[in-house]
Amino acid sequence: MLPLYDAHNHLQDARLAPHRAQILTDLASVGVRHAVVNGTCESDWPEVAALAAASPVVLPSYGLHPWDVGNRSPDWQQNLRTALQPAPASVGLPTAALAKVGEIGLDRWILDRARPDDSRLAGLRRAPLAEQTEVFLWQLDLAAQGNFPTSIHCLDAWGPLFDLLRVSKRPTRGFLLHAYSGPAEMVTGFADLGAHFSFNGNFLEPRKTRLSELYTTLPADRLLVETDAPAMRLPPAVEKFPAIATHDGPLANHPANLAATYQALAELRGTELETLTTQVAENFQRLFLIC
Ligand SMILES: [Zn+2]
Repeated sequence: MLPLYDAHNHLQDARLAPHRAQILTDLASVGVRHAVVNGTCESDWPEVAALAAASPVVLPSYGLHPWDVGNRSPDWQQNLRTALQPAPASVGLPTAALAKVGEIGLDRWILDRARPDDSRLAGLRRAPLAEQTEVFLWQLDLAAQGNFPTSIHCLDAWGPLFDLLRVSKRPTRGFLLHAYSGPAEMVTGFADLGAHFSFNGNFLEPRKTRLSELYTTLPADRLLVETDAPAMRLPPAVEKFPAIATHDGPLANHPANLAATYQALAELRGTELETLTTQVAENFQRLFLIC
């Protein structure tokens, strides 16, 4: 079985916690070798670190997500620097050598389009774009200084993101635009700056055909695959692992649906699954693993 790589998920999420042992078994059963597990706020960084200590599948990544910018503490910069230090127990392990930054980014959707009663945003102060920008640029600069793999989230702010990336120091290894959903016309410009693009199985939803078609045209050497689990469910007909019931909201995407996502992307691109899997492994190693 060729190894699979989840370029972006949130295994630390509390909704997955009661099912964690089974999830790790399921990930092994479909051949997932590594998943980049993205912290999003200061309070979930310790949980990401604990998961990484417990499972070699987990590649920990730390960042302040744009949704969480408004609730950051006055010490967030120092806390992030501390989180990015490798844990003493992992020193010497090749996968721990490289700190990873993310999930960071810009989000105008929460300001302009999110419903006021969206339960995912309960308790969050929605930081205006200028404040998100300041926090994003500080984190991007930290990543550029260390040439750390960096995972970027963007919704409804593709123009501002491009303008910032163009004039900022960036990691020379490139960076990930996770679940890229921007305009097709901007792909070449982002790619020239070092962007990689991760396909999410949620783009198989019939109302998202623009995105599934977009991923048939992306350059093969910049392509990755992700679940964003527990977010972004696949259409139920494509899911191989049923969604997980949660106590307080929508069903959670099972991270082992990564395998079904690879399969669907290979079909979309008219590529053999083996060819795609080999290419994605090369891309993943170049972006996330090689020091
Ligand atoms: Zn995410």
